[in-house]
Amino acid sequence: MAYVIVDTCTKDQLCIDACPVDCIHPKEGAPDFETVPQLYIDPVTCIDCGACVPVCPTNSIFVLEDLPEDQAHFAEINAKYFA
Ligand code: SF4
Ligand code: SF4
Repeated sequence: MAYVIVDTCTKDQLCIDACPVDCIHPKEGAPDFETVPQLYIDPVTCIDCGACVPVCPTNSIFVLEDLPEDQAHFAEINAKYFA
C-alpha cells in the first residue's frame, strides 16, 4: 500500500521528523535536496502508520487508496525515486 507525497509538497521536512522508519527522502543536506521538486516516500519501507499525514501543512500526503484520481501518477513518481 504505502503513503504517497504529491507536488504541493514544500520540502519543509516536517514529515521526515514524524516518520518512525525514515522512509521520506531526500533530506536537507542530501546531494539532490535542492534540485528535487518535492519529497518522496519509499513504498517498500513505509509501514503505513499515517504519522506523517497530520503534520503536513499543505495536505500533500495521501494513503494510496485516497489519492485523488488526477494525482494517481504520484504513486509511481514516489516509487521511482527509490528505484
Ligand atoms: S510535511 Fe508535507 S510539505 Fe512538508 S516535506 Fe512533508 S510532504 Fe512536504
Ligand atoms: S505512513 Fe508512517 S511510515 Fe509511511 S511515510 Fe508516513 S510516517 Fe513514514
